[in-house]
Amino acid sequence: KKILIQNETKDELQKMATTFNRMIEKLQENIDKQRQFISDASHELKTPLTVISSFANLLRRRGIKDEEIAKEAIESIYSEANRMQDLTKTLLNLAESEHLEGIEKQPINLVALCTTILNQLQKVYKREINLVEDGSTPFIKGNELKIKQVIIIFLDNAIKYSTDKIDVFVESNQGMAVLRIKDYGIGIREEELENIFERFYRVDKARSRETGGTGLGLSIAKNIVKLHNGEIKIQSKENVGTEIIISFPLAKI
Ligand code: ADP
Repeated sequence: KKILIQNETKDELQKMATTFNRMIEKLQENIDKQRQFISDASHELKTPLTVISSFANLLRRRGIKDEEIAKEAIESIYSEANRMQDLTKTLLNLAESEHLEGIEKQPINLVALCTTILNQLQKVYKREINLVEDGSTPFIKGNELKIKQVIIIFLDNAIKYSTDKIDVFVESNQGMAVLRIKDYGIGIREEELENIFERFYRVDKARSRETGGTGLGLSIAKNIVKLHNGEIKIQSKENVGTEIIISFPLAKI
């Protein structure tokens, strides 16, 4: 017995099939990304481990008799072990930032929070970091520790990738609290801009290794800002500098 399918039903079925296909494509994309992430994470951990293992072996064979070799081996083992420790800490942090749905939020005075952070960082890095506010004293609703982490991630990058002063603006604009972090450093090429929020992505891997980067900071920041219904925009020009614009909905207080 033949079943007659009316045109309308056909259209509906076609639409469903298209939606379904799209869902599968998205799922596959996520699986691929996850696979890539595990492969990258393993690689990042393997590199210092290889150095540690080679130097330990060298030490085992010759080091004890040769003071020069012993010194070099111990230094390398120590610094690579530290790097592994930092990386595992950051990886745990990233995993945590993906599951923050139920986290406690309270009203946060952005100017007060930025002032505290800037004072702390200025002491450590001895850099000129200016806070410019428009007098509106914006409050947002958020988790103070996590918002602090976001601001530090962006300031840390501004410090790492520039040598001049850094300007931080706190403003209100159309129902949003806006935080702008502006540096006058090396900048980011336009074609790199869409990549830098990817996990483990670094524009210059060698340089970033020197400065102690993991390529995970911006991914963590993105997750936290998203959880606070915020948005990150970035404007950058090579050899001119970078401006990060983060906006959060203003809290009703
Ligand atoms: P990292 O730990 O390497 O800094 P991030 O995820 O924080 O990792 O940043 C990813 C990459 O984006 C960095 O390696 C760097 O190449 C680029 N980047 C981020 N912030 C800046 C900035 N303010 N100026 C220039 N480049 C930047």
